[in-house]
Amino acid sequence: MSTYAKPIDYLIEALTKLPGVGKKTASRLAFHILRSSLSDAQELARAILNVKEKIRFCSTCFNLTDENPCRICQDEHRTREILCVVEGPNDLIAIENTGVFNGRYHVLHGTISPLEGIGPDDIKIKELVERFQNGGISEVILATNPTVEGGTTALYLTDLIKPLGIKVTRIAYGIPMGSEIEYSDSMTLSKALEGRREI
Ligand SMILES: [Zn+2]
Repeated sequence: MSTYAKPIDYLIEALTKLPGVGKKTASRLAFHILRSSLSDAQELARAILNVKEKIRFCSTCFNLTDENPCRICQDEHRTREILCVVEGPNDLIAIENTGVFNGRYHVLHGTISPLEGIGPDDIKIKELVERFQNGGISEVILATNPTVEGGTTALYLTDLIKPLGIKVTRIAYGIPMGSEIEYSDSMTLSKALEGRREI
């Protein structure tokens, strides 16, 4: 039985649904919001609603965007010949932050994982293959994570793409096995991109 007023309980309960937020953190956040000014609280609420209302998938690369196609797909200074395939939007951001990649992206939104029942049709692979039909892509860089699922996905994509006569490379991993692209520093990640090898 909670001793808090009902609205506080609701807020704590809502915050507990966020990843990595337990009851203790949730109540600390709730009381922080309670103490903050009305305009700060409104800004937070508006920011949450804004991302839900305005952020969509780019219909070309499936990056998260507020305009379609996204800014990267619109950028004519970027080559259309090289496509970098990543698992999620955060991997794209990490690679962008290295500043060494001037091609375009494709975001899979997951990996093939037979153990979890995730097959090729559950991630954006069909959409990737559709992009090859327009021609003009000469190299695909597979920048999936060095995990079992990332490796399985890279292998599946290699078998799919190589017969189309497109060069397939996998980024080199100065990145330790089992770690994630999203958390790698820019230097390690740019070295990994430079050191990619053909498969
Ligand atoms: Zn895009």
